[in-house]
Amino acid sequence: MTNRHTIADVRRCPLDNGQPCDFTSLGSFIDKSGKVGEVSVIRCTRCGIGVSLPPLPDVAFLYDGRESQDFQPDARGLSHRIKDIAFRRQARALLRQLAHRPKAALDFGCGSGQFTRCLDDLLPCATVTGTDFHSEPPAELAGRDYFPIATASVHADAFDLVTAFHVLEHDDDPESLLNRIAALAAPGGTLVIEVPNIDCMWTRLLGQAWDAWYLPFHRIHFSRPALRALIDNAGLTIEQDIDICVPTMGRSLANAFGRPNSLPFLLAGIALHPLQWLGEALSGKPSAIRIIARKN
Ligand SMILES: [Zn+2]
Repeated sequence: MTNRHTIADVRRCPLDNGQPCDFTSLGSFIDKSGKVGEVSVIRCTRCGIGVSLPPLPDVAFLYDGRESQDFQPDARGLSHRIKDIAFRRQARALLRQLAHRPKAALDFGCGSGQFTRCLDDLLPCATVTGTDFHSEPPAELAGRDYFPIATASVHADAFDLVTAFHVLEHDDDPESLLNRIAALAAPGGTLVIEVPNIDCMWTRLLGQAWDAWYLPFHRIHFSRPALRALIDNAGLTIEQDIDICVPTMGRSLANAFGRPNSLPFLLAGIALHPLQWLGEALSGKPSAIRIIARKN
C-alpha cells in the first residue's frame, strides 16, 4: 500500500540530494498514550527513516504527569534494584567508550534520572547534570544538578560531554532538536546520541509488538544512514558508530500479550536477553544505534 502525505513534501531526503523523501505507509499502530487516537507510520524507501503521524509539533502534553514509561513509573522495589544494576553497567560501558573522562556532563532528556544518577555516582570528580521538560527534578536527582530544558539556552557551550539517549526520536523536528542539544556542548566536546534502529531484527520478527515503535511518543524512527546523515548535516564529526542491544524484550512480550509491563515481564526480558543479544550480533541488526560525535 503506498500513501502520499503532505509531510513527504517537506522532509528532504538526505540520501537523495535533498529531493523529498519517498514515503510508503507501514499502516496503523497502537496509541500507547491514549491521548492522540489514530496513529500510523510512513517510511522513506530511500533513506529508511520512519515518521509517525499525525504530526505533533509540541509533544510536551504527552509527558505531563511523568506517567509514560520514559520515566520508569513501574520501577519500584525489586524492579528498581534490577534497573539500577543495568543502568550502572550501561554507565560503565559508556565511560569505556569515551576517549576522555568528562568533567562536566549533561544528560539531555534524563527521564527518571536513574541512569543520570548512576553516571554521577561513577564520576565523583565531575559534575553530572540532568535536564528534561519538567521544572522540578525527578526523584532520582533530588539534591543533584538539574535544570528544565526551557532554561537550556543559558547553559550554551557549558559541557564537555552531552548524552542524549533515546531523545531524538521523541520530536517531529530532530534537526532542530539536535542543534539545541549540540549547542550545550563546548567546542571540542563530545556528544553521544542513541536512538532505536528501525532496521532492528526484532521489528521484522515481532512486528508492532516491538516496543521501540512506541507511538505516539516516538515521532521519528531512524535507520542508520538517516541518523548518520542527520548528525553529519548538523556539522558534527562522527567518531564512533556502535551497535547497542537495548533490553526491550520484556516490554515487547507484554505488548504481544496485550498486558501492562510488570515484574514478570521484566524478569522474562532478562532471561531472554542473552538470546536477544546473540540474535542482534549474528544478524548485524541491533536494537539501537549509538553515535559518538565531536563538536567542532
Ligand atoms: Zn528519505
